[in-house]
Amino acid sequence: GRAMAVFTSGGDSSGMNSAVRSVVRMGLYLGCKVYFIYEGYQGMIDGNEYIKEADWNSVSDIIQRGGTIIGSARCKDFTDRSGRLKACKNLVDRDITNLVCIGGDGSLTGANLFRQEWPELIQELVNQGKITPEKANKCPNIQIAGLVGSIDNDFCGTDMTIGTDTALQRIMEAVDAVVSTAQSHQRAFVIEVMGRHCGYLALVAALASEADFCFIPEWPPPTNWREILCEKLAHSRSMGQRLNIVIVAEGAIDREGHKISSDMVRDVVANNLGYDTRTTVLGHVQRGGNPSAFDRLLGCRMGAEATIALMEMTPESEPCVISIDGNQIVRVPLMECVFRTKAVQKAMDELDWELAVKLRGRSFQRNLD
Ligand code: ADP
Repeated sequence: GRAMAVFTSGGDSSGMNSAVRSVVRMGLYLGCKVYFIYEGYQGMIDGNEYIKEADWNSVSDIIQRGGTIIGSARCKDFTDRSGRLKACKNLVDRDITNLVCIGGDGSLTGANLFRQEWPELIQELVNQGKITPEKANKCPNIQIAGLVGSIDNDFCGTDMTIGTDTALQRIMEAVDAVVSTAQSHQRAFVIEVMGRHCGYLALVAALASEADFCFIPEWPPPTNWREILCEKLAHSRSMGQRLNIVIVAEGAIDREGHKISSDMVRDVVANNLGYDTRTTVLGHVQRGGNPSAFDRLLGCRMGAEATIALMEMTPESEPCVISIDGNQIVRVPLMECVFRTKAVQKAMDELDWELAVKLRGRSFQRNLD
């Protein structure tokens, strides 16, 4: 059988464990030797106890746990060729020529680079006498399949990333809690949610909590947003609403690209309307907790497909990302998605909002409409 390994890298998200479980079990079912790589690329470089063989039971009882049991990390060393050379040696020592990378676009970019360099790295290891030519012949190439674990849903090419649905669940619970107190005291609450440069969490949270207003980076408000905001809130109050909820994405900006912070929004409301206005920055509670049913199943389906994809690849196959597209699990070219994801940021930097929204893709657009 072939040898494969799975690792999680970059920011953690709920549902990663489910994906790890599914990769391991599908791999074993197909007759592969399966390894865990602990602590992302750092573990790949450090080797030894950080690369351990998995068995069927080692992934029991993890589907319901948040985060990732095999650890995740950012790793400076992997961005250097010397780090990747060590990682290559550790994989070749175990005949691992198939990798499932669960991470964000940074981790996937690193995996793609690693695959491109692989034949050179192997040659270098032979030249340095660190591996035998026979060993090198057994591992001429490495195959890569990627899964996107991110609470932000910031990756182009998939409708949903693993962990987004659970983060939304956490945000909803927090907003509901805030609403009940705001109701009693006739307050306005400005709630800041995560998402980095992506407004998906803020957008969907606003829709699902019937917020009065929402600030996201991809579709900034008009320049006179202060007046528009205050009019909207005052109108809601005049219709008998006892509270206001405003959702601000952590990456929110105005039409000139300047940051709109939750404190700025609070001051606008408090100073112009005189409402008792509070800011709540949800922070890391959004990342944690048990994965939702959706994320468990998404991780399962994507993990199984990643393993099958690896078994079907040839040395010429470009790395793929497993994505969900209209409730179908499909394979899409990894670097195409990475480039599109980077293009969204570029569009926002250039203040081209139409393009940013278009590039974000269908699930984002639908919610914005
Ligand atoms: P994410 O995967 O969530 O986007 P990062 O961008 O921090 O998170 O990337 C995670 C890790 O992936 C980095 O710490 C680094 O080890 C590796 N990585 C990211 N970009 C590259 C790159 N261009 N080349 C090599 N490795 C990279």
